[in-house]
Amino acid sequence: MVSPHAEGVATLQSMTRTALITGITGQDGSYLAELLLDKGYRVVGMTRRSSTDTRERLTHLGDRIEIVQGDLLDQASLVAALRVAQPAEVYNLAAQSFVPTSWNQPVLTGEFTALGVTRMLESIRQVDPAIRFYQASSSEMFGNITESPQNEGTRFRPRSPYGVAKVYGHFVTVNYRESYGMYAVSGICFNHESPRRGLEFVTRKITDGAARISLGLRQQLQLGNLEAHRDWGFAGDFVRAMWLMLQQDEPQDYVIATGEMHTVREVCEVAFSHLGLDYSDHVVIDESLIRPAEIDRLLGNPGKAKRQLGWEPEVSFEELIRMMVDADVERLRVNPEPVPTAVLPLPHNLSRTG
Ligand code: NDP
Ligand code: GDP
Repeated sequence: MVSPHAEGVATLQSMTRTALITGITGQDGSYLAELLLDKGYRVVGMTRRSSTDTRERLTHLGDRIEIVQGDLLDQASLVAALRVAQPAEVYNLAAQSFVPTSWNQPVLTGEFTALGVTRMLESIRQVDPAIRFYQASSSEMFGNITESPQNEGTRFRPRSPYGVAKVYGHFVTVNYRESYGMYAVSGICFNHESPRRGLEFVTRKITDGAARISLGLRQQLQLGNLEAHRDWGFAGDFVRAMWLMLQQDEPQDYVIATGEMHTVREVCEVAFSHLGLDYSDHVVIDESLIRPAEIDRLLGNPGKAKRQLGWEPEVSFEELIRMMVDADVERLRVNPEPVPTAVLPLPHNLSRTG
């Protein structure tokens, strides 16, 4: 466990340290960048080239971060990014991270989310094997669960191409640790959310939908399986665990979770009731949003992270959902942007985005 003293020392030591974050434009990347800047790090974010600006979640950080271009599909670009940034720590958050898309684009998901991890590890091994590496593993790896709650030793039985790709990324991280003695670790993170969560993920879809309905911008919200159970935490809490995992004496993998489980229906109840609404008046079931293979229940046991990292989540489930609702109401009051155009369902009912 990291004592308050050790944490202070680590903060001091990190004053000149550089971290490279892949996936910095995503939800977790933006929170992790804030955390590391607060700790005195030089933060370099890796982004892939795009014809439109994807840095909306980073606007508030201004020129406090540096950006280097790179793509998980292109190993030469990863080597170049490492040479330019010269990081002490790499946080590999980049991935195709949306489960339904992984049925539509299974090969691309494997390229980004599975092989992309090997490309980054191999690049680190070539450029500087002393770099500490964090891999964003996922509770989706547990899939068809064999025990509850799930811990670091629970068997992986993934239920989507995304989950399968994450299992590969997880084990190749373990393998580089064991084969080359590299400080390479995985955080097996359960679902974590925030006002910066992508709009297609269920919590944000619900908080955005409830906010729109309360402002008269739409009447109904289409959802899939309301009985799915998840262990939902706050992304700001989870990035603290990622950092702690790279500050230990020994590289190890950890489950990061709240240890509490709720249903999609409960998310609806909390979100709509916060705005004085009854979700059952507005939520309708859309069969095309039911997944071809669902994970019914996920619940994490964060005991090891609590004991060894001294990590605890600080934001409760209800606080999280209300925080997201408040942020969506505020955003839509200022800018009542239209509902994004729906993506057409593909044949075989294989998942619409959102
Ligand atoms: P997001 O979907 O918000 O962000 C994904 C990031 O990956 C984006 O910055 C995206 O960039 C980048 N990216 C995608 N493909 C590539 C590529 N080929 N090359 C370079 N960058 C790429 O994810 P989150 O922030 O929510 O999650 C972070 C990580 O944690 C992901 O790996 C996710 O799978 C994992 N995870 C997340 C959980 C959660 O509940 N949030 C739970 C467990 C694991 P761009 O802006 O260009 O699209
Ligand atoms: P995931 O756990 O990484 O797949 O995160 P999501 O937020 O995408 O989904 C969480 C759970 O919500 C899954 O069990 C989904 O089946 C369920 N769910 C129900 N309705 C919807 C919906 O409309 N969109 C999404 N994304 N998920 C939904």
